[in-house]
Amino acid sequence: MPERNRTRETRQRRVVYDTIKKTHSHPTADWIFEQVRAAVPKISLGTVYRNLSVLKDEGIVREIYGFDRRAHYDADLSPHAHFICSDCGQIWDVFGVPEIDWRTLKELVGCEVNDQRLDFQGRCAACRVAENKN
Ligand SMILES: [Zn+2]
Ligand SMILES: [Zn+2]
Repeated sequence: MPERNRTRETRQRRVVYDTIKKTHSHPTADWIFEQVRAAVPKISLGTVYRNLSVLKDEGIVREIYGFDRRAHYDADLSPHAHFICSDCGQIWDVFGVPEIDWRTLKELVGCEVNDQRLDFQGRCAACRVAENKN
């Protein structure tokens, strides 16, 4: 790849990453694309997808599947679980959930664990308030 193209790739990936890093809303590729376009008008949705896939493979972003069955992205790699609202589909961070001891899991099922995903489902506070008003 010519040097100029590589520099552009790196810059675009940086913008994609920064966009995810800036928000706690666990956005989809479409949302990220809309944001990135403001900074890089010529970028295509395909390029955004490609960059997301590289960032994911490099372990720099996490992927979470929402109720919409779409991939949502999170640049916060600190240990946390997610709460997914079944009404509005929002994905909230949940910190402080006790982690399972992976070593115990290895003894139990004989597998080596590399990652832990924990999703809670239900209705978020905003949706509960909205319902109580009716
Ligand atoms: Zn909700
Ligand atoms: Zn998160």
